[in-house]
Amino acid sequence: MSASEKDKIRRFLFDKANIRGEITSLNEVWQFMQANHGYPEIIRQYLGEVVAASVLLSATLKFEGSMTIQASGDGALTLMVVECRNDFGVRGVAKYQESLINEIVDEMSDEPDIKTLLGDGTLIITIEQSKTKERYQGIVALEGNSIAEFLEGYLERSEQLETRIFLASDEKAVGGLLLQQLPGQNEDDDSWERITHLGSTIKPEELLGLDSQEILHRLYHEEDIRLFEQEAIYFKCTCSRDKVTNMLRSIGHQEASNIIKEQGNISVDCEFCGKGYQFDEIDIAGIYSEHAQPSDPSTRH
Ligand SMILES: [Zn+2]
Repeated sequence: MSASEKDKIRRFLFDKANIRGEITSLNEVWQFMQANHGYPEIIRQYLGEVVAASVLLSATLKFEGSMTIQASGDGALTLMVVECRNDFGVRGVAKYQESLINEIVDEMSDEPDIKTLLGDGTLIITIEQSKTKERYQGIVALEGNSIAEFLEGYLERSEQLETRIFLASDEKAVGGLLLQQLPGQNEDDDSWERITHLGSTIKPEELLGLDSQEILHRLYHEEDIRLFEQEAIYFKCTCSRDKVTNMLRSIGHQEASNIIKEQGNISVDCEFCGKGYQFDEIDIAGIYSEHAQPSDPSTRH
């Protein structure tokens, strides 16, 4: 893959068939996201699939904001959260119970599927508009056997748009292809079957290793296809000292004072980017005295 194709998303359109598509691959951004986490292979694989999916889905955001895909459960995989902004700033993290992962992997001859890992789980999509802070939340039914199938079903039910999603993930890269039938007139009756069938022949190694143009040429050289310029994906963490301060406020003065007494200071590391935030006794005193006389939040900054 050429350097210019790394961490990119490209939209495309089959004009006659009224089908839109997106193809993405993340390399350095994905490697950064898993650095220092030491994820077991199976966790890394599914987190990667959610990262690719969240980039594909957030391409439909029509305002400044973010889309978050969050899976949680009581199984070996307890949490996966991936947030992608409308400009493709993305971050994500997974949490798991190591002993349970080992048990499942040892017991199963095949790769454990996502439902087995999640146990009694839920998948939620949250869309937030930056300016108004307006939030929309949708529950994704875990119908099917893969993250791609869960999301296809969700889009079909929530937006009445037939969608196919193909995802691939390994330690170096993640990739995804999305095809979606748009509402409206279709000049070519068999096009959806034909184009999605061709899409389904994509191999994971192709999604992970080839340039988008090469993939689209391999799949669709006989179709009329319009390619748009690629857009860059980057790692974006929205953590801040303010947000950590608010989190500390929520644990209460007493609890914070106890930690200070025991450890001398409070140290909070961001789960997404690893950035550390330190608070000493004076910081903590400041946080709670501020809290005692709250200023108008709209003029605080
Ligand atoms: Zn962070």
